[in-house]
Amino acid sequence: MAQDPPTSYRGPLVSEPRQLLARVRDVMAGAGENQVQFDQITKIIATYMVAEVCSIYIRRSGDQLELYSTQGLKPSAVHNTFLRVGEGIVGDIAAAGRPFALADAQAHPNFAYRPETGEEFYSSLMGVPILRGGRVIGVLDVQNRTKRDYTDEEVETLQTVAMVLAELIAGGTSNQENEFTALDEQSTEPIRIEGIMLSEGLGIGRAHLHSPRVNIEKMVADNPLVERQRLEKAFREMHGALDEMLADKAVAKSGEHKDVLETYRLIAEDAGWLKRMQEAINTGLSAEASVQKVQNDIRARMGQTSDPYLRERVHDFDDLAHRLMKHLMGENGDAGGNEMPDEAILIARSMGPAQLLDYDASKLKGLVLEEGSSTSHVAIVARAMGIPVIGRAPDVLSRVNERDLIIVDANHGQVLIRPGKEAQNAFNESVAELVEQKERYAALIDKPAITRDGEEIKLLINAGLMIDLAHLEETGASGVGLYRTEIPFMVRSKFPGVDEQTRLYNQVLDNAGGKPVIFRTLDIGGDKVLPYWEVEAEDNPSMGWRAIRVALDRPALLRRQLRAMIRAAAGRDLYIMFPMVAEVSEFVDAKALVDKEMEREKQRGAVMPRLVEVGVMLEVPSLAFQLPALCPLVDFISVGSNDLCQFLFASDRGNPRLSSRYDTLSPVVLKFLKSITDACDLAGVPVSLCGEMAGRPLEAMALAAIGFRRLSMTGSSIGPVKEMILGLQLSAMRSAIEAHLDMPDHSLRETISELARLQGISV
Ligand code: PEP
Ligand code: MG
Repeated sequence: MAQDPPTSYRGPLVSEPRQLLARVRDVMAGAGENQVQFDQITKIIATYMVAEVCSIYIRRSGDQLELYSTQGLKPSAVHNTFLRVGEGIVGDIAAAGRPFALADAQAHPNFAYRPETGEEFYSSLMGVPILRGGRVIGVLDVQNRTKRDYTDEEVETLQTVAMVLAELIAGGTSNQENEFTALDEQSTEPIRIEGIMLSEGLGIGRAHLHSPRVNIEKMVADNPLVERQRLEKAFREMHGALDEMLADKAVAKSGEHKDVLETYRLIAEDAGWLKRMQEAINTGLSAEASVQKVQNDIRARMGQTSDPYLRERVHDFDDLAHRLMKHLMGENGDAGGNEMPDEAILIARSMGPAQLLDYDASKLKGLVLEEGSSTSHVAIVARAMGIPVIGRAPDVLSRVNERDLIIVDANHGQVLIRPGKEAQNAFNESVAELVEQKERYAALIDKPAITRDGEEIKLLINAGLMIDLAHLEETGASGVGLYRTEIPFMVRSKFPGVDEQTRLYNQVLDNAGGKPVIFRTLDIGGDKVLPYWEVEAEDNPSMGWRAIRVALDRPALLRRQLRAMIRAAAGRDLYIMFPMVAEVSEFVDAKALVDKEMEREKQRGAVMPRLVEVGVMLEVPSLAFQLPALCPLVDFISVGSNDLCQFLFASDRGNPRLSSRYDTLSPVVLKFLKSITDACDLAGVPVSLCGEMAGRPLEAMALAAIGFRRLSMTGSSIGPVKEMILGLQLSAMRSAIEAHLDMPDHSLRETISELARLQGISV
């Protein structure tokens, strides 16, 4: 029986963690009600951790944490003390999903004093989340009277116990229902969740929860040697299977997804990962529990990071942990969960790129993630496979049941869960419409975009990944108006060297099949972070040290990139464009580096590009006032309306609260843009626009009307924009729109829509 804990102690507090786990296991294996078991467990933990208090909080509906059991706090507080997630230190632990250890908890700004608990006597606190399937289902903490620092080992031990407790809460040690399973009850109501489009398309199917709960039968093991052997065997098997899979899948053979998958394979070989699992086994956990424990640790440590590289690594490790678990559990295990429906929508918190390849692609109709961004690796692979994906769909995992009917409408960034008949009919109509639209656009592929009154508008695509280049052929676009070179940099784990960049740009030019490609030099900084590029935090990163400013301060970086472009374009045409130029002299300095690199290549006797044109992005308003000085120096100009509008209105382009505050179809934007096309026309400099607005038919119509003859957009916009152009009487539209440019209106959207309707254009 556990002895009463001493009231003060200053030595190494944890006795053998294995003994503690064995005691907890004995209680769990025994009969008895949950309350009795939990009360015994808090007592055991308090004893072993030499703490005066040990408490367990259980997460209830409404994001409340209920004090479920305690050793040391007042018994009357049990089931009566509730903290919201995010309230107090316990609430903070639940919100952050990671451990806290504080020598003086009461001095912490978020300390929430609850008089009914009597906790005023305790100074220090160490708490860990109780995690199940990556979700916080409770909090386990210990408190001490003295102000003491807890060691990393103590935190680890508490985490290990919390993991075992998670099984008890979820009823994992027995198959019987318990009072906590209500936690997982899910609604059957139709729900609509908004997220962001990571890969376009529309899909319907039955939900399949990725990485469903893994039921670990045995958390604690008696013989570490046997567990280590099991782990090592599973590790070897996993590697063999992984190699086979990557060698097998066509998608793993070219483009960025190949790099992504190769990085993943390297991660799988990470010796530190295996070592940490071996160490966890030494604390008394079974091999399966060790895999889970290390995964919980990785998520806690790296999951909160804003660093995109580390975030991707968490997904990779999630993926690998799940894979390893499958090998550990063998054929009879439960790590694979339910069988996938024939028409499946995968639902996941996040996913590594290789996991997607595990699924039968012919059955996959869509993917919904709670996390993710357009450069997340799974999104890149999904795009290559043509699967619609929605990311950042909040809490989708907890709102969907396996086999629920799901509609993924990636183009509108929405997921419909258990849609009613009406929504299903609307979906069928949208699919039919999409098919019909596709056929219409396909019929236009070889037609130039010429207005009814004979003006040609060149339509180009924006690209950043190899897969985007496929749109050139699919849409009949005239070329690449903007190749964002930072995107391939963003999905890599280190700066690509000159040779690697040369290969990359060479491949881009090959894939463009002779159509012109405008390479924009690195636009890093702002919201475009490179995982391996350490920069100081800035108050206003989008107005900070980014793009050309970085390039001119670190010329070697730019010169290497230019060198690679010149080499890749040997014998072909090369178009280079500098981003975020704010004044003419910046362009002059950057252009001088092009000249230097050209000279250097000439000296080497290299085959030179057939033609080199150097242009500039106009996305900082100041440059618009220097056009008479700039135009004679540049070969072309492309307006980056995304940045230009954010600076024009002083309105952060990434802030959702401001997204509908100002309209790109306002008289001020159109008038400003018209002043740019006028100045460029006067100087005879070709000008295009490559911001998002170019891809929206109504905006594209207005842009053509104010003088743009070249528009660059995402591939999927080419069809709709071309259809609009083919129906447009441009000169009539020009005079009609020009008549409104001095209006005081917030927006001309309605007016312009009406003008489109009058011409019979549906946009
Ligand atoms: C722009 O700013 O409009 C643009 C096209 O560049 P990016 O969106 O990459 O900043
Ligand atoms: Mg920009």
